[in-house]
Amino acid sequence: MLYKRSSELFVEANKVIPGGVNSPVRAFKAVGGTPIFIKEAKGPYLYDEDGNKYIDYINSWGPMILGHAYEPVVNAVIERAKKGTSFGTPTELETKIAELAVSMVPNIDKIRFVSSGTEACMSAIRLARGFTKKEKIIKFSGCYHGHSDSFLIAAGSGASTFGIPNSPGVTEGTAKDTLLAKYNDIENVKALFESNKNEIAALIIEPVAGNMGCIPPQNEFLRQLREVCTQNKCLLIFDEVMTGFRLAKGGAQELFNVDADIVCFGKVIGGGLPVGAFAAREEIMNYLSPLGPVYQAGTLSGNPLAMAAGYEMLKALNNNAIIFDRLEEKTAYLEKGIHKVLTAKNIVYTINRVGSMISVHFDKGAVYDFETAKNGDNDTFKKFFHGLLRKGVYIAPSAYETWFITDALTYEDLDYTIRAIDEVADEL
Ligand code: PLP
Repeated sequence: MLYKRSSELFVEANKVIPGGVNSPVRAFKAVGGTPIFIKEAKGPYLYDEDGNKYIDYINSWGPMILGHAYEPVVNAVIERAKKGTSFGTPTELETKIAELAVSMVPNIDKIRFVSSGTEACMSAIRLARGFTKKEKIIKFSGCYHGHSDSFLIAAGSGASTFGIPNSPGVTEGTAKDTLLAKYNDIENVKALFESNKNEIAALIIEPVAGNMGCIPPQNEFLRQLREVCTQNKCLLIFDEVMTGFRLAKGGAQELFNVDADIVCFGKVIGGGLPVGAFAAREEIMNYLSPLGPVYQAGTLSGNPLAMAAGYEMLKALNNNAIIFDRLEEKTAYLEKGIHKVLTAKNIVYTINRVGSMISVHFDKGAVYDFETAKNGDNDTFKKFFHGLLRKGVYIAPSAYETWFITDALTYEDLDYTIRAIDEVADEL
């Protein structure tokens, strides 16, 4: 059996870990079957506990942009660990990675490090509320900003202005301060500002959405959001946890030439260790404790191992801008190959892509927001996922996730993947 040991390990895990996993999407619930337990990884490949090898298109959900066990990162972590793993004091390394990040990303003067993307987004919202002295926020249906209470709000039926909690444990009180908007619909956003005049502290967006599949911002959408936020004295927060240091050195701000007021980071910035960060111009960041009144803290924030990994990762990206061109070329090659084989097999599909974020939707219409993303045929996706898994190609176990391309992928890997998709297409 292909997944014998993984299946056994999943049974054991279920006895002591809710659902057998420490983050829900890993459990394969959306696609069925047993999650594979990974033993080790190198470059673009994962190796599971049963000895199967996979070409990895998830890459730890984004961080491993240069492939697994990237040597400069691994060596930096080992060397750092020998000197102590946590001090709870400032270290020089924190300033070095901060200087580097500030030099790479447009429009930010200061950055604060935390331990996850969730923390980054949660702290950014608190800072925005403190800075503007307003309470409501706008988020977009289908965007994910981590699991803090304010963000676990889904669209209610109809164009409800106030959010409703979609997770028990999120109070109505919290939910009412999160207004929901439709991705790529500027009129909808303007209407929310109109009906909540002078009450909106921040609008948070994934500048390229990656949590409902990959959904690019249409035409002038980000620029229009910038304008409407400025007019309403509302801070524009780009959640660049996925896009940061991936779509360009300076992330989506650079790619689309739109300035955000606060930018959130995670994933790539930690090189595979638990790191998040949020950054802004000085007048906003100085509102944070200990300089300003908005409190935010963390025992392991700026942890030396995490900073060592992140610093090596950012250095590699900063010194080799060609990586972003290569990622674009490799992902475009993959996109073209998938188009070719799925069209030849008369499969109904849509591909969305921005740089090295790409997703295949089994729906013939354009996919540009949460509603259109939900139209995809999930049964076809399940067959697609399991067919590819059996052939050693590991994509995200949910239609609502983007694939993350790594620079470690070779063109042979891409050709293998396209051939695998061609074969799997016969079973769809
Ligand atoms: N923001 C975005 C855009 C994300 O994709 C994620 C996680 O996938 C988060 C925030 C939360 O980050 P973390 O899982 O590190 O808490």
